[in-house]
Amino acid sequence: MTDLTGTTDPATELGGDSTADNTAAAIDRAACERLDAADPLRAFHDDFIVPADTIYLDGNSLGARPKGAAERAREVIEDEWGEGLIRSWNTAGWFELPGMLGDKVSGLIGGGAGSTVVTDTTSINLFKAASAALRIQAEDAPDRRVILTQRENFPSDIYMLQGLAEQLDDGFEVRLVDDAEVTAGFPTSMTDEVALVVLTHVNYRTGRLFDMRSTTQAIHDGGALAIWDLCHSAGALPIDLAGHGADMAVGCTYKFLNGGPGSPAFVWVSEALQNRFAQPLSGWWSHAKPFEMSPDYAPADGIRRFLTGTQGIVSMSVAEVGLDVAARADLGAVREKSLALSDLFIDLVETRLAHHPVEIVTPREHAHRGSQVSIAHEEGFAIMSALIDRGIIGDYREPSILRFGLTPLYLGFADVWDTVEALRDILDNRLWDTPEYKVRGAVT
Ligand SMILES: *Cc1c(COP(=O)(O)O)cnc(C)c1O
Repeated sequence: MTDLTGTTDPATELGGDSTADNTAAAIDRAACERLDAADPLRAFHDDFIVPADTIYLDGNSLGARPKGAAERAREVIEDEWGEGLIRSWNTAGWFELPGMLGDKVSGLIGGGAGSTVVTDTTSINLFKAASAALRIQAEDAPDRRVILTQRENFPSDIYMLQGLAEQLDDGFEVRLVDDAEVTAGFPTSMTDEVALVVLTHVNYRTGRLFDMRSTTQAIHDGGALAIWDLCHSAGALPIDLAGHGADMAVGCTYKFLNGGPGSPAFVWVSEALQNRFAQPLSGWWSHAKPFEMSPDYAPADGIRRFLTGTQGIVSMSVAEVGLDVAARADLGAVREKSLALSDLFIDLVETRLAHHPVEIVTPREHAHRGSQVSIAHEEGFAIMSALIDRGIIGDYREPSILRFGLTPLYLGFADVWDTVEALRDILDNRLWDTPEYKVRGAVT
C-alpha cells in the first residue's frame, strides 16, 4: 500500500524514494504545484487569456489568445483602417507585413532572414511550394514523376498534392508511405522515380515527431527534394531548417504560434533555391514591380515571389502578437517543459488509469514525441465530450483518439494532474455514457 496523502518529504512525493525509480507512482497534486512554482516559463501564463475554470489542451489546434491581441485588433481597425484609410498601406506598413512577419517566423524555425513570408493558408502554400519544387526537378531530374507523403499526413496536405498531380497531368502521381517507412529512411519507396517528398514534422493525430536531419539526408541521397510541414512543430520545439538542409517548408500560425483563428500561414525556401523557384499562383503581389501594372509578369527576387494577392490585414496584424510572445520564449526551455508535461501525463495515465482500457498512442521516446499526448479508448468521443463539459478542452480524432495538446507557455503541471483525475472520475463512474455526449457537431 502506498500512502499518497501523508508524505512530507518532497523527494518521496516526486517518486524519488529509496526503492522506486523515478516513476509518477508517488506524485500528487502538491508535488505538481511545486513543479509549477519552480517553472522558469511560468510568467508567460500572464501573456494569455484563458477563461477561468478552463484547462486548455487544444493549443495544437487553435492556440489561446495572447492578451495583446484585442488591443492590436482595435488599433488596426480604428486607427490604421479607420483613420489612416488607404494611406496605411504605406504609413502602417501593411504592404510589408508578409516579409516582416516572415522574418519573425524565420527566427523560430531556423530559416534565416529574408527567406520566409507569412501569407495565405498552409494548404495553398503547400500547393505553391510543391509546384515550385517540381518545376526545379523538371530541370534537374525530368524523369521523376512521383511525390511521396505520409499516409497518415493531415488530409489536406494529401489532397492538395493529389490536386496538383492531376493538374500537371503528365504522369505525376502521389504515393503514400507509412510512418515506419519514413522513420527507416525510405528503404522501399525511394526509387529513381521520386521527385519530391512532403512530410509533416509531427503527426497531428499520434504526436509522432520525425527526425528532420536524417530524414532530409535520406531524401537528398535518393535524389528528391524535401518539403516539411511544420504545422504541429513551429513554436513547440526548436527547429533548424537551414542547418538540417531542408529545401522548403510551410506551416500555420494559429496552432502553437497563437496567431488567432484562421491567421495566415508561412512558407520558407532555402537560400540555394531562392531565385530558382517559380510558383503557379503568380499574382501581382509576387511581381517585381507590382505598381507598374504591366501586362507582363516578372517575378520579384527572393521570397516575395511566393506571394499571390492582397492579404487579410486585420488577421495578419493580430498574428504578430502571438509571434512576438513566442520570440521572447526560449524554445529550448519550451521543449524541456513540453516533454516534462507529456512525461507526467503519460505516467499518470499509466498509473492512475491502469484499470481502464486506454492505450497511449504517442511515442514514449522523447526523440519521437511532439508536444501532445494522444490516448485511445473505444468511447473516446463521448469521454472527450464529458471532459469538455467540465472545462477541460482537448479534442477527438478518428479513430478513438483523445488528443491533448501541451502548450508550455500557458499550461502547468497541476493542470495535467487535474486533467487525468477528471478522466479517472469520468471513466470510473461511466459519466461519458449518456446520449448527450455522443452527439457530434460539424467540427470535432
Ligand atoms: C493544421 C494543419 C493544416 C491546416 O491547413 P489549413 O490550410 O490552414 O486549413 C495543414 N496541414 C497540417 C499538417 C496541419 O496540421
